[in-house]
Amino acid sequence: MKKILTLISAALLGAFLLAAACFFIFPLPGQIPVLMYHFVGSRDDAAQQKNFVSRESFAAQMAFLKRWGYRPISLEEYFEIKTGARRAGGREVVLTFDDGNTTFGSEALPILRRYRFPVTVFLVSESVKHGHHGSMTEPVIQGILKSDAYVGIASHSKTHPFLSRITPEQLEDELKGSRLDLETMFGRPIRFLAYPSGDLNEEVLESARRAGYDLAFTTSAKKLKNLPEGPYSLTRIKISRSSDLAPAFWFKLSGLYGAYKKSVRPSSRGAGGSAPGGPGLDLPQKAA
Ligand SMILES: [Zn+2]
Repeated sequence: MKKILTLISAALLGAFLLAAACFFIFPLPGQIPVLMYHFVGSRDDAAQQKNFVSRESFAAQMAFLKRWGYRPISLEEYFEIKTGARRAGGREVVLTFDDGNTTFGSEALPILRRYRFPVTVFLVSESVKHGHHGSMTEPVIQGILKSDAYVGIASHSKTHPFLSRITPEQLEDELKGSRLDLETMFGRPIRFLAYPSGDLNEEVLESARRAGYDLAFTTSAKKLKNLPEGPYSLTRIKISRSSDLAPAFWFKLSGLYGAYKKSVRPSSRGAGGSAPGGPGLDLPQKAA
């Protein structure tokens, strides 16, 4: 009996030491997870709608980053590291929000203000113009950019279509048009793009390059199908209610989750195949 207890204790100690080693080793230097959020709201919102994170979870996640020495960086800094103009210092992470929803300003921003973490919001330019689909409007975003210098903006297309299903002319208008519209509205360069619903194929990423973006992001690795990951097909890590517990959030930050997703992605389908899964607009089901 004593022998069994000693063995169990040794196994538990071994598991603890291994977990502690992983906690400090990962993410490996130069591995920079790009986290993708959509909406922040109440616990009820988070329980009912898949793209919501509760404000309590979001606050805990930002506190976790601060507590454990992670360094949120802007997409400009991420670009410099990726192109070799700047060296990674370790434990960098990028925070992004898709859709420019009003809950960014009302729920996420008051929490981000405690830490002044750089963050990028991907905006749907026509929704910003008309205040549609719960989007923050131009004056609201202007106010945020003025008061919170660590907030950056980028493009999430003009109208949030499935980009692989529209004509080449519409594609150019969605990507180049949204960049030009946002630059006119906010008087700053728009260098980065997130594909709506992560939907892309070779034509889409070529169009993003021609539209003048420096980098473009999809969502998870499965959206790449058999395309390689590159400057116009970068993957992100979705944070949703399934990341509520600290170990789950850490697993997503560690690079191990992303590596796992890439290892299991289907790669047999053609790059031109356009049957993306998931909903059209990843917008909240109720007006926010
Ligand atoms: Zn979206």
